[in-house]
Amino acid sequence: MKALDELTFDNRFARLGDAFSTHVLPEPLDEPRLVVASKAAMALLDLDPAVAETPVFAELFGGHKLWAEAEPRAMVYSGHQFGGYTPQLGDGRGLLLGEVYNEAGEHWDLHLKGAGMTPYSRMGDGRAVLRSSIREFLASEALHALGIPTSRALCVIGSNTPVWREKQERGAMVLRLAHSHIRFGHFEYFYYTKKPEQQAELAEHVLNLHYPECREQPEPYLAMFREIVERNAEMIAKWQAYGFCHGVMNTDNMSILGITFDFGPFAFLDDFDAHFICNHSDHEGRYSFSNQVPIGQWNLSALAQALTPFISVDALKEALGLSLPLYQAHYLDLMRRRLGLTTAEEDDQTLVEGLLKLMQNSGVDYTLFLRRLGDESAALAVTRLRDDFVDLAGFDAWAEQYKARVARDGDDTQEQRRERMHAVNPLYILRNYLAQNAIAAAESGDYSEVRRLHKVLSKPFEEQAGMEQYAQRPPDWGKHLEISCSS
Ligand code: AMP
Ligand code: MG
Repeated sequence: MKALDELTFDNRFARLGDAFSTHVLPEPLDEPRLVVASKAAMALLDLDPAVAETPVFAELFGGHKLWAEAEPRAMVYSGHQFGGYTPQLGDGRGLLLGEVYNEAGEHWDLHLKGAGMTPYSRMGDGRAVLRSSIREFLASEALHALGIPTSRALCVIGSNTPVWREKQERGAMVLRLAHSHIRFGHFEYFYYTKKPEQQAELAEHVLNLHYPECREQPEPYLAMFREIVERNAEMIAKWQAYGFCHGVMNTDNMSILGITFDFGPFAFLDDFDAHFICNHSDHEGRYSFSNQVPIGQWNLSALAQALTPFISVDALKEALGLSLPLYQAHYLDLMRRRLGLTTAEEDDQTLVEGLLKLMQNSGVDYTLFLRRLGDESAALAVTRLRDDFVDLAGFDAWAEQYKARVARDGDDTQEQRRERMHAVNPLYILRNYLAQNAIAAAESGDYSEVRRLHKVLSKPFEEQAGMEQYAQRPPDWGKHLEISCSS
């Protein structure tokens, strides 16, 4: 266990120099205070959890203090936003403080979001508000607990600093951890600004530090791109299987590590709705729930374009072709497991699609239905869940297919079925209204609800005593919350 001043830095990205990032100091928040910290994330840095309660913790992550070995840098990148290319973006309100390595030899980027203006702030104020910082914190840690690859969050620091959005709010900072903060947009930036030397340096950096096993392949860059395609397919399969809607899948928000990244107006589905749009400025539904699959491929092809200096177009196309079949295989595998199946049959896809269609038409709660399906034997569960559906004949037909399929899957006891299904079907997810309740309390100075919600969501598959209220369908007011994009 380490104290805060015992972290060991090795700032590999900063060493790439000024073409890649700019030195900027964090701008401190007024009266920084701890809102919430993740002990699990602290453990990634070998930090003693007790240090979160010390004043120096809030000072470090509220922009007042800095380690002598930290080298805060704002990274430059660009990206396709809603399909159109923006030539220059970058860390407009976030800073890479440095890279820390832990005792296991893993490197973690410390990235402070909400740290003030940078050369890339454009029209923004460089700040993040408390509500968006809490949402990013809860989402990162909740997705991780569900087994979905994501950046992590160490803490949220609140303050008295006034920040103007639609109304006056308070500034906050969230400390994000990831093995890298390099995005698809980094490659696009050097490609479109025609800087082949830096583009090559960036590619070498990513290959050496993040995909070293690809070095062994005859075409290392191609192997690396294939791996990125694979990781993305797997990540998006998990989003779709667990009802996660990212909301802003611009290429500057896509990590080259295939982790969920840059949380904005994201949402988990309450009622199953394939057409759900969580970002209310997304008028055309480009980033609707079901569009995440084709958009994931679109984003990969934008990255492929930026990699044409290193890889032949034919090879890139071939690798891109792997994306959909890989996605489908991962998704179907997860959905089989969510349905309690241990074997594969050709018609399983139809079984899954049939259920989703019925849920869509009846507005059935996606998470709770699948959780309850595992509570009992298939026959008993479908009888109990039948009332949730409007199209009873349709559901009965599906239930017959499902029971027959479960019977063919093989014998096991009800205990085994429940254990297996509950291990993949969460009871607790980060519903928008739960986040909203926690945010409302935090905005009035009470952080206990954020902390409790974080704790519940860190064990989403385990039923927790006294936490029934977190495993309910949303009340009417909480069903169609519009989450502001301004954060
Ligand atoms: P996002 O939509 O959060 O992914 O942000 C897109 C771009 O806008 C990134 O380059 C951000 O750094 C920048 N940005 C977002 N909000 C702010 C802000 N309040 N101040 C400065 N830059 C911002
Ligand atoms: Mg972003």
